[in-house]
Amino acid sequence: MQSAIDRINYLKDEINKSNYKYYVEENPYLSDFEYDQMFAELKELEKQYPLLKTPDSPTQRVGSVSEKFFPHTHKYRLYSLDNTYNEDELYKWYERVTKECGDGVDLVCELKIDGLAIALTYEKGIFTRGVTRGDGITGEDITVNLKTVKAIPLKLFEPVDVEVRGEIYMPKTSFEKLNEENLSKGEKIFANPRNAASGSIRQLDSTITAKRDLSIFVYSSVFENIPNAPKTHYEGMMYLKKLGFKVNPNIRHCKNMKEVIEYIKEWDTKRFELNYATDGVVIKVNSLSCQQDLGFTSRAPKWATAFKFPPEEVTTKLLDIELNTGKSGAITPVALLEPVALAGSTVSRASLHNFDEIKRLDVRIGDTVLIKKAAEIIPKVIKVMETPEHDSLPVYKPPAVCPACGSPLKEREGEVNLYCENPNCSQQAVAKIEFWVSSEAMDIDYIGPSIIRQLYDKRFISNAADLYRLTIQDFMQLEGVKEKSAHNMYTSIQNSKTQPLNKLLTALSIRHIGKETADLLSQKFATVEDIKNAEISDFDAIEGIGDICSESVYEFFHDKNNLKMLEELKALGVSPVSKSLPKSDKLGGKTFVLTGTLRNMTRDEASEIIKENGGKTSSSVSKKTDFVLAGENPGSKLDKAQNLGVIILSEVDFLKMVKED
Ligand code: NAD
Repeated sequence: MQSAIDRINYLKDEINKSNYKYYVEENPYLSDFEYDQMFAELKELEKQYPLLKTPDSPTQRVGSVSEKFFPHTHKYRLYSLDNTYNEDELYKWYERVTKECGDGVDLVCELKIDGLAIALTYEKGIFTRGVTRGDGITGEDITVNLKTVKAIPLKLFEPVDVEVRGEIYMPKTSFEKLNEENLSKGEKIFANPRNAASGSIRQLDSTITAKRDLSIFVYSSVFENIPNAPKTHYEGMMYLKKLGFKVNPNIRHCKNMKEVIEYIKEWDTKRFELNYATDGVVIKVNSLSCQQDLGFTSRAPKWATAFKFPPEEVTTKLLDIELNTGKSGAITPVALLEPVALAGSTVSRASLHNFDEIKRLDVRIGDTVLIKKAAEIIPKVIKVMETPEHDSLPVYKPPAVCPACGSPLKEREGEVNLYCENPNCSQQAVAKIEFWVSSEAMDIDYIGPSIIRQLYDKRFISNAADLYRLTIQDFMQLEGVKEKSAHNMYTSIQNSKTQPLNKLLTALSIRHIGKETADLLSQKFATVEDIKNAEISDFDAIEGIGDICSESVYEFFHDKNNLKMLEELKALGVSPVSKSLPKSDKLGGKTFVLTGTLRNMTRDEASEIIKENGGKTSSSVSKKTDFVLAGENPGSKLDKAQNLGVIILSEVDFLKMVKED
């Protein structure tokens, strides 16, 4: 019993401290996942020992209020949500619901927007007050600031009295832009879009708020005295939309738990395509009378629950910083971490970008760091957690010499990286060959980093051209390589000789030239010879290629050593021809954005058709987009296209456009 008392007191202290750091200082020292785990443990202990549950326990309360603004007492209390990370608990919640309301209760799924909860009051359709959730009973009056958020209607389409709840958020792209701007001005960097939204909407100077790109999704309402009041949550949401509110388009009415699980699975991956942060799915009982029967606990409704996605952010210890020399000579620092579970995998390495970033974050070996993973992007260190140890750890000093060859490192004007300028640096050579074989470049199967390292160390190869001189016998001299795999490696290299020109241009690792520019070049030029004979002005004339890239290509194809290597490659049979020279100009100059799943082709195939017909593809919708090609289950790009009035094509429309005459 004593140990339970001690543990409960410890958890209460930690959670209260974290609440203050999170809600008031907006500088949490725990990841949300760690916080949620402690919270769940405290709830479980209080269930086991009910006598130890006190009214001041954080499990009995919601959020916190700061003293920055005038307090306002909510007319209707605002609650938090119970949450879970696993399906079993979700089924248990549904069992409790059906016990109260009977079988076959239908539900509504919504994305859980990761922002700041607010309540908006409208009297006769006019916006009169906006208040943060605060502790659910009292919030902060931020009406003036909320009036600067364009997605909040100041007047509704009907003169109703209503209180609407919603989540203020900052789009991911605006969050990144704000951080970039703040970084260049030496101002505060926000750890995530939620903090940026909360910090921006709670500015004492509303002109600052007005400059921040904030938006809202509303998710519930309390109507006063309206005839034909909605009877279900879903109807209520559709009515809010009709009144002029921004309702998240991904809301879905689900008949049963099976459909709920499908929704969760679908959004666990699709959420990364959205331009706003979501940390889970909120599942709500649809019938409002059933909601009333279920009621509330002291901090959350019993008729709703949140299923949280596996954490994208966790804390762990930084054990060391590894230095890698890349193909361009840039030295990249990589964080070596105490292994930790993150978004479904165990992570022990994370990107630290460059030494400016290490300085900005003040990362020190031994620190506790917050790491984040989004979609397939490698995890990155986003923050150093405030710990007592931090100050006593030595400040990290960037290296003075290349970790591979020992040459002194140099800075390049206008760039943040440190570079090894030694043309004979072995690690640079190996990194260039590793890139050459990668799927993005010449796409050579069976040859990974360890094979390349062995080939290089045995002096069988010193550059990519040497790969084409290797024999099956050479491969068989490598550790663990038998005849069959030696044969596979050899064949794969030989097959790469016929890769199209854009692949070769990418593989050459020309400074500033990535896949997209290589594609543009190969649309204009048919062979390496054509590029060699071109002038800078020919490159400049290609839309999408700027001065820096033009100069870089020109210089590359006029450098003695590079020309020698190109001759060698040609002599060895590597002399690709452009595959994607436009066949027609039907889509000449038109920019396409693709979204959703296509029925008759993959998105890559559709992109290829667009290029073959003189068009271009882009990954995001803007005013410059001519067409959005939308398949099934399109993402947010479709909404954006609709907002911007961009023409939306179905697959059939698209095929008609490119069909032979
Ligand atoms: P919450 O953010 O987990 O969930 C409740 C909130 O979800 C609601 O108030 C509402 O604002 C929001 N929401 C978003 N979309 C919604 C929708 N469609 N329908 C209904 N509500 C929706 O709860 P909370 O009480 O604001 O915060 C608790 C959470 O905050 C914790 O679970 C934890 O993850 C995090 N937290 C972290 C720390 C820390 O130190 N890292 C400290 C305190 C809280």
